[in-house]
Amino acid sequence: DLGPGVRVLADQGRNCHSQGRSPVCSYCRSGDSHQCEFYSEHGITGLQGALAATIAIPAVNCVRLPEGLPAELGALVEPLGCVLHSSDRVERAQSRYTFSGPEPIRNILICGGGPAGLLFLQYLRNIKNFEGLILVSDIREKNLELARRFGGTPISAHKTDLGESVRELTHGERIHYLIEAAGNSAIFEQMPSLLRKQATVVPYGHGHKGRDIGLWGNILFLEPTLVASVGASGGFDADLRPTTYRRALELITSGKVLVEPFVTHRYGALKEIHRAFETDFSRPEYIKGVLNLE
Ligand SMILES: [Zn+2]
Repeated sequence: DLGPGVRVLADQGRNCHSQGRSPVCSYCRSGDSHQCEFYSEHGITGLQGALAATIAIPAVNCVRLPEGLPAELGALVEPLGCVLHSSDRVERAQSRYTFSGPEPIRNILICGGGPAGLLFLQYLRNIKNFEGLILVSDIREKNLELARRFGGTPISAHKTDLGESVRELTHGERIHYLIEAAGNSAIFEQMPSLLRKQATVVPYGHGHKGRDIGLWGNILFLEPTLVASVGASGGFDADLRPTTYRRALELITSGKVLVEPFVTHRYGALKEIHRAFETDFSRPEYIKGVLNLE
């Protein structure tokens, strides 16, 4: 049902349906498509990535972009899909503090106001309609400004002590639900002073390094519910296309989740993209860069 010139976004993970397998594996059956037993992923496991002039992807992995939707918004569907999947995992987990159970989550801390942190924030405010306190810590002013705009309470980790700010703003309660979206291992050092006992923790960021794993000791004493998630897993629609990507696309198309405010860098040709990785990424004003060939 796709033809030349049709604009699509792609689920870069190849699952059982991508390979025409029948019956599908138990992970695909349960909607955990990025844990498929026969999984492979474009740009990650050796299959060609999208920074190429041409790339071949199974049609069943492709979701049509609505007419008029700028391509760069389509490019940011996958990061939102990952946040949706992560949030689904949290909501399916057995935890002390939940959104609708007897001990409701009253406060949330998002460590890192980068693209992931800002997507979590909008998800919590605009889709979960969570009305409690959402703290967002970062050291970059622009990111903190966006956090405020999207309904968070910014904490400048540069200017204030995170532990003290959390105790003050939660009136000594500490954090019920912590999302580590910075990929910064320093946060694990602070976690024991941030968390309420038996809180929920999502170690979402990657690339943690430079700290001793012995740090876990004081965190584990608090018996947190740890929820790991990776990728934008989800079930399949009737046409076998990935549900999570369609959900994320709908949220961006309808404007319930805004991604355009944090696209800070744009590249108009493949030969320019090296700048993103070599220099722009470490600039203080960089949040998200997009390659747009339209
Ligand atoms: Zn599978």
